[in-house]
Amino acid sequence: MAKKYDLIVVGAGPAGLMAAKTAGENGLNVALLERKKNIPEIKRACAMMWLAFKERYFGEWMRFNPKDSRLCFPKNGFSIKYDGPVKNIYAIYGHSSEGHRIRIGDCDKGREAGDPAKIAMVHDKSDLLAGLLKEVERLGVEVFSNTNVTGIEIMNDKVTVLAGNQEFAGTFVIAADGVNSLIAQKLGFNKNRKYYGMLLSRTYTMVDVEGADPNAVNFSYYGQPLPFIVALCPLAGGEGHQVMGLTMNPKIEPDLIFNRLMGEGFLQSWFKKAKKIKELAAVENLWEPIVEPYKDRVLLIGDTAWCQEAENTGSLMCGWKAGNVVTVALSEGKIGREGVEDYLRWWKDSFYNHYDYRDYIKTFEFPLLFKDEEINYLFSQIKETMPASLNAYAIFGIIGVELGKVMGKIAQERPDLIPKIQTFASASAEDLMSEAIKEGFPNR
Ligand SMILES: Cc1cc2nc3c(=O)[nH]c(=O)nc-3n(C[C@H](O)[C@H](O)[C@H](O)COP(=O)(O)OP(=O)(O)OC[C@H]3O[C@@H](n4cnc5c(N)ncnc54)[C@H](O)[C@@H]3O)c2cc1C
Repeated sequence: MAKKYDLIVVGAGPAGLMAAKTAGENGLNVALLERKKNIPEIKRACAMMWLAFKERYFGEWMRFNPKDSRLCFPKNGFSIKYDGPVKNIYAIYGHSSEGHRIRIGDCDKGREAGDPAKIAMVHDKSDLLAGLLKEVERLGVEVFSNTNVTGIEIMNDKVTVLAGNQEFAGTFVIAADGVNSLIAQKLGFNKNRKYYGMLLSRTYTMVDVEGADPNAVNFSYYGQPLPFIVALCPLAGGEGHQVMGLTMNPKIEPDLIFNRLMGEGFLQSWFKKAKKIKELAAVENLWEPIVEPYKDRVLLIGDTAWCQEAENTGSLMCGWKAGNVVTVALSEGKIGREGVEDYLRWWKDSFYNHYDYRDYIKTFEFPLLFKDEEINYLFSQIKETMPASLNAYAIFGIIGVELGKVMGKIAQERPDLIPKIQTFASASAEDLMSEAIKEGFPNR
């Protein structure tokens, strides 16, 4: 017979580790199941930024305390120890293929102003996960690595999680198995969920990239007929970069992206001496968020319930809140929806009602709608430095304000672009992503 736990957490990313740590601190009897053998090893591409400082983000005003190496969430009321390297990010620079640059923030000014001007920090996610895992183990959570969850069964008095021929029974389950969650799919959450396509990412960790400011995130947008995005993010430790190629079209081979990036156009000069030292990938379905991420004593947290990325910080918040709410539910003997109502309210306030995921999707709509030549023209029109932000839900709004200032000129020089800009601003995500929706493989 399966051993019974108060709580089973599926997935040991930031959300699952934080949920297990919090519930472990509260003295619950917890099992953490993870399919990776070595939990801190990063197997999936991630730019490893903590977003976003200097503004309220997912209901939080995050801080980093360098004196005690702590990432702090003062509004939620918790902090975590992090002993790895960090680096401040002060700006995003966007480039078109011919080298027209738009600036969202200014690194020189940011460095001058110092720490308070940072909009994000890069960290080493492997160190973040290792630190959380150490705590989880110290607290006596039973960690089952190399354990691939294959099913879930709801019964009257327990939920059984299946991993091949192993069974784990829990009063509550927290599903933190990420963006392509098996548990969300098995419990039917994806059946009527709006689907926007599949994001494919190939990431090279590279050294000797020349020309990229060490405190900036550099983006490059390549429009039709080969629509993709490249993001260059500095590594927290050392001088290297993560170079990420992102596309919503599974027919575009990652090699095509990197050949174009490094073989032609403006950015090729940055890669003349660059050497690849590591390669990672990610394949992620883009769903609308789940309004009520709960069913039959199973709570879905982090990426599992959001639109692609709740991000490392958002997932940590979800794990902390979920671990506490489940603890209180057990103490009060409220073994059902009533017990986790506080989490569902918090989720709505901090995530669901706080940001419109369709603003985030704009990043992927942009290269699908515009031709490469059009992106070159539009970027060439924006000369002013825009206010610094790495808030993915706000960036196209910031760019829109700046484009608004030059609309008269665009209307004269390129009247053909006006209807497209209007479509980009007002058409539904379903329409703008129709090409990606057709090409994706949803795990309904
Ligand atoms: C290209 C890219 C760049 C990104 N850049 C950033 C960034 O700069 N900053 C940021 O904050 N976020 C970034 N993100 C998002 C960030 O990586 C995620 O939001 C974050 O990791 C989500 O944490 P999570 O714990 O919810 O899920 P995950 O980190 O995905 O963790 C899920 C865990 O569950 C495990 N799992 C899955 N299925 C099973 C199963 N069946 N059985 C057992 N275990 C299972 C997985 O192995 C994994 O360990 C990026 C993502 C991508 C793809």
